[in-house]
Amino acid sequence: MHQVILDRLEGYLAGAPTPREFTAHLESCEDCRTEVREMRELSSAFAALRAPEPLASPPGFYARVAQRVDLERPRSFWSLFWLDPAFGKRVAFASLTTLAVLGSYLITRETEYSSGPPTPEVILGQAAPSDNPDMMLATLASYEP
Ligand SMILES: [Zn+2]
Repeated sequence: MHQVILDRLEGYLAGAPTPREFTAHLESCEDCRTEVREMRELSSAFAALRAPEPLASPPGFYARVAQRVDLERPRSFWSLFWLDPAFGKRVAFASLTTLAVLGSYLITRETEYSSGPPTPEVILGQAAPSDNPDMMLATLASYEP
């Protein structure tokens, strides 16, 4: 692409009026004409992708969202906790206690499993998966030269 086109290309793509030398060169130069046409198609594709609405939220948007949340709240399951905070606290405390008990139980089990050297059966099971005929078959079936 030639310099005379490059200088004005951005304005041309944006729809700004272009000087005579720009259009004249575009008419006479096949290369520039093709490239400019491709760029125009590209920029119009981008324009089509662009969201029609501005990204900034319109005034009153958050107020409307808050209002909507207020309206929908009584229908939700969590409204129970808002209606009776004491009950909600009790439920939350019970859940936390359950989690703590479960967690400590799992940690105890984990340390039991990992203590001591692995048994020979475990080592054999890990080292020789191809002894299993089904596994061999699967390996052969999925083999692609
Ligand atoms: Zn040119």
